[in-house]
Amino acid sequence: MAPPQPNRTTEPFGTGEPVNITVEAVDRHVAEGRGARVALRFLSRHHGRRDVSFAQLSEMAARTARVLADRGIVAGDVVAALLPRGPELFATALGAWRIGAVFCPLFAAFGPGPIRARLELGGAKALVAGTGLYARKVAGHREALPRLTRVMLVADGDDRVPPGEDDFTALLAAADPAAAPAAATTAADPALLHFTSGTTGTPKGAVHTHGAVHAQSRTGRLVFGLSADDVYWCTADPGWVTCTAYGIIAPLACGAVSVVDEADFDARRWYATLRDQGVTAWYTTPTAIRMLMRYGAALARSHGPGSLRVAASVGELLNPEAVAWGEKALGVPFHDTWWQTETGAIAIANLPGACRPGSMGRPLPGVETAVVRRGLTSVEVIAEPDVVGELALKGLPSLFSAYLGDPERRRACFVDGWYLTGDQVRRDGDGFFWFVGRADDMIKCAAHTIGPFEIECTLADHPAVAEIGVVGKPDLLLREVPVAFVALNPGFEPGDALTAELLTFARQELGPALAPREIVFVETLPKTTTGKILRRALKAKAVAEPDEDEPLAVVPYPGRFDDE
Ligand code: ATP
Ligand code: MG
Repeated sequence: MAPPQPNRTTEPFGTGEPVNITVEAVDRHVAEGRGARVALRFLSRHHGRRDVSFAQLSEMAARTARVLADRGIVAGDVVAALLPRGPELFATALGAWRIGAVFCPLFAAFGPGPIRARLELGGAKALVAGTGLYARKVAGHREALPRLTRVMLVADGDDRVPPGEDDFTALLAAADPAAAPAAATTAADPALLHFTSGTTGTPKGAVHTHGAVHAQSRTGRLVFGLSADDVYWCTADPGWVTCTAYGIIAPLACGAVSVVDEADFDARRWYATLRDQGVTAWYTTPTAIRMLMRYGAALARSHGPGSLRVAASVGELLNPEAVAWGEKALGVPFHDTWWQTETGAIAIANLPGACRPGSMGRPLPGVETAVVRRGLTSVEVIAEPDVVGELALKGLPSLFSAYLGDPERRRACFVDGWYLTGDQVRRDGDGFFWFVGRADDMIKCAAHTIGPFEIECTLADHPAVAEIGVVGKPDLLLREVPVAFVALNPGFEPGDALTAELLTFARQELGPALAPREIVFVETLPKTTTGKILRRALKAKAVAEPDEDEPLAVVPYPGRFDDE
């Protein structure tokens, strides 16, 4: 059976208003006389920087549109990308949207299995990939992907595109941008296919429409204050929705200069980039912030004050210590923001000037929120503050239009007109939301339901703790007890003495009901490719019987887990 196509499974959402992401994010600036302004500043791993203007980017998109159309790609077809952060990633996305095709970025960190699964589930017809990534992760599976008929390759470093394969760069150079087709897309037409991070289970393919561009640019202005005066930097991996929404679309639509660094995390390089590029607005993740914190605030300060006006984080809870560290090291606090693949754009955020450390912030204007208790066919809205319930949303124009091939699963997310997010939260008396945990991460200990984050935030304050993940472990008496997996800062040794110290610290700070019953030292915590702590892998470890040969106190994990 042919895999489902986004244009066929999408339930109509939004309006029939004509809108196209590429026109909105790029061509509009050219039409309005801003074509010569810098749109993108690419920092290559080794070869310095290259600026691309809005006019050049518009031409790049037109050339890509021509190339895709010449290869039979039409509106609604899925165009996948397996590319590093570079010009080709932007060309592929913008060229696909121009002809009404659906852009589907993939994580380079995935192995061949997860990549094949996503290409299959997405029914991708075209793929633009780096030569090395393609050889290692796709070539061996080509026969199992009959729908994937168009593969175009971009030479990695000194590599060459093998004879017989389409060379994307050469095709773009030869294409006629003046003859590029443009689709008359509407706000309800599918544009994006992203797979969720897979933190809680099998990743879901969420589809978003061209209409989402309005929410992305509006939230870019609200949360980051983005305008043509800004130099903005988003560090997200190209496979993550954060890169598409806030690394590609929002900054372009707001007319800002967007810094695009091909290289991976490197504390010194990052500080130099913030300073040398004059970055004014920065979007990153708690994992990256925690890594920077390990290097100390002095290193950050040694690079000078820079021009940073706003720094924000997304993806996981940001503990108050990290918020304050931003202020100390960079002169601005890290503002936590909340959204998920399904919402398509930021829904809740700490806005500049109104930051409450440890909270996710307040709903953005126009986003209706509630804390609810789920019933089978209805939800009960909890009006009083400080009660834990599920976060529910209404009125989000950028909400996903489909889970690819699984309309039932999407339908199950809506009750009484509310979209149920699956996240447990509480709202304080001032309207700030506090993340408690995902429904699946909650620990049911005796009569209490414990969110792991309160325990994690408290233990993260201990100087020995670099990273921590808390999960529930089955217990005959209490149903579940909290167990903390801890990676240590340099200079601290795992062992009975430190275990006792951490348990005492936890009991003092949290009280006996919340304090973890066990500490398990690990070298690093398992993560999804978006850098989130993979609690289900920790849970599996907590549930597993201890191996007699393996002391439970030291359980080394690889740094990353593919999520399948
Ligand atoms: P899956 O849905 O496949 O389990 P996932 O939910 O991790 O994966 P994403 O859509 O990338 O996939 O992540 C969204 C989720 O990340 C949110 O629902 C929430 O649980 C978590 N999250 C995002 N931002 C924050 C934040 N600021 N604080 C706490 N949690 C956050
Ligand atoms: Mg999710």
